[in-house]
Amino acid sequence: MNLKKYTRNFNPDWNYQYSEKEFEDKYTYNGTDLGCTYSELNSQFKLWSPFAKEVIINLYESGDYKKDDLIESFNMNRGAYGTWYLDLSGDKKNLYYTYTVKFDRKYDGIYDAEICDPYARTCGVNGIRAMITDLKSTNPENWDKDSYPNDNLNPADYIIYELHTRDLSSLDCSGIKNKGKFLGLTEKNTTVYNKGIIKTGIDHILDLGVTHIHLLPIYDYATIDESKEYNSREYNWGYDPLNYNALEGSYSTNPNDGNIRIKEFKNTVKFLHDNGISVIMDVVYNHTYNEEFCFNRAVPGYFYRIDSDGNKSDGSRCGNDTASERSMVSKFIADSVEYWAKEYHIDGFRFDLVGLIDVDTINEIRKRVDKINPKIFLYGEGWDLETETTKEDIKLAKQGNIDLLDRFAMFNDDLRDSIKGSVFDEEEKGFISGNVKFANNLKKSISGFPKWSSSPVDVINYTSCHDNYTLFDKIRLCNPNISMDDAIKENLLAISIVMLSQGVPLLHAGEEILRTKTDSDGSYVSDSVRSDDSVNGIDYSKLEDEKYMEVYNYYKGLVKLRKKYNMFRIDNKTDAEKCISFKETGNDGVIEYHINKNGHEVITIFNATENDYELTDLNGYIVLAEDKSVNENGIRKSDRVENVKPKSTFVVYR
Ligand code: CA
Repeated sequence: MNLKKYTRNFNPDWNYQYSEKEFEDKYTYNGTDLGCTYSELNSQFKLWSPFAKEVIINLYESGDYKKDDLIESFNMNRGAYGTWYLDLSGDKKNLYYTYTVKFDRKYDGIYDAEICDPYARTCGVNGIRAMITDLKSTNPENWDKDSYPNDNLNPADYIIYELHTRDLSSLDCSGIKNKGKFLGLTEKNTTVYNKGIIKTGIDHILDLGVTHIHLLPIYDYATIDESKEYNSREYNWGYDPLNYNALEGSYSTNPNDGNIRIKEFKNTVKFLHDNGISVIMDVVYNHTYNEEFCFNRAVPGYFYRIDSDGNKSDGSRCGNDTASERSMVSKFIADSVEYWAKEYHIDGFRFDLVGLIDVDTINEIRKRVDKINPKIFLYGEGWDLETETTKEDIKLAKQGNIDLLDRFAMFNDDLRDSIKGSVFDEEEKGFISGNVKFANNLKKSISGFPKWSSSPVDVINYTSCHDNYTLFDKIRLCNPNISMDDAIKENLLAISIVMLSQGVPLLHAGEEILRTKTDSDGSYVSDSVRSDDSVNGIDYSKLEDEKYMEVYNYYKGLVKLRKKYNMFRIDNKTDAEKCISFKETGNDGVIEYHINKNGHEVITIFNATENDYELTDLNGYIVLAEDKSVNENGIRKSDRVENVKPKSTFVVYR
């Protein structure tokens, strides 16, 4: 890598030196003890800050940054490779601390900064002060016996449910006591308003039958004011990272005590594991909330990519792309993932905008998590976000480079947009709404091979997630006059394509009850990152309406169907090429998809037209899906000739 290339015109700032090989050689620290290492006898601190002239550690009584409760400050000692260290003897458990880093040059107009520890394991309220924690004391009962529930499965067997912790329980109809908290995920036997039999929360998810819950960011993010009461807190998705190795305080019942959030989240993981659900974390290493980020304050400017004009590279559209290719940033990211996997028994990681992270860092992560559990599932948004800063020198983990990665899957935007139309054009219709230009692209995705993939297990199939309009809203937006019944038909057609395609299916939480994000003026919300609970909360009460229950049962039926027939779960290229074929239908609005495997055959028809599609020679088949019904054990025997209804999916098996 020629690092000098993208730092010209940037001399004599520190960034120039960071990009010299000499700097990396002199200041790359490979130790595993950055942060605070606690024992009853002493607490050892280590911070990487090569250009500081002085570093001080400040011990506080509480985690509340508004309290004037400094106990004492200590000067740290200069260590090897740009580190600073100090051992404090005695039991310092549950005290809080910050570092003050002092420089002889200004950065952003200041010399000194009081910062949180980039390796903080937990924090006080709002993530300003780090906490000295005894991690062992935070473990739930039988934590050492906790096991990964779906280790016997292959990624093609997974069914992932993408969920925001707060949305699960924020509405009163959920009947959940711990609203918006991790613990809300552990409440069993809840029903709509706790009256009647319609399940909510985790019981709803277990009933649906998914294998993995993918949680939107749960590390400590910046935007929510944790000091406010739950009801007056603003809403946020959490793509604004503040402390990468600490949990978000607003999801705990007490953000003021750094231990509580750890205990509650570990309990949640244990509970989910005990109920057969694997836990995936959404991690956002490609940018930070802002440049005040503590790592960047300790080593000013080091954390971000700089273009040839000296400006921050901005592929993320968040203003500060992470320079993952720099040795200590790469190490920081790998250390972080490894820590979550080890300490919290996390089963998988979803990397936000991974197309901005270099492939070496991702491969290092794969290597590290393999030592913990080789089944840990890694995937991300491999969009092509090349900038001037990266295009010549850095190989990024984007779709086009997937072959440079080992066991790393990527979101299939080809499938997503072919099904329902581009997410960037709300009026564009997709295949389900009769836009047949997508038919060929769709077939590639159905067989597990969008143009960039070389195995179905590299592909995360979905048609909606937290971003953009919900599936049901998009269907109605691109066809404003559509009837409720037709919109439901298109929604079912869409999800059947996701669930019956080869790859790893991912569902957006609530889409199984026609999730809509509607503002008070009735308009659909595309970007609900700051919308309130009335827009974002999952409304289980809709299931009291038969129409919604029918949709829910269809989703549930597809989950069972996929689980029963491994023909929809082919995990390699050879089998996929051998077993899958498409028959010419004479109409691009109808896809006839055949899978032949081990003497069995499944024929699936996706009919997006307004007309019946005739299928002949079906003697001896059973019907698994038709119209608005799915039954993995068979709905009925098929007739010799079947007419597949308009806007529907039909599946037969023999
Ligand atoms: Ca926070």
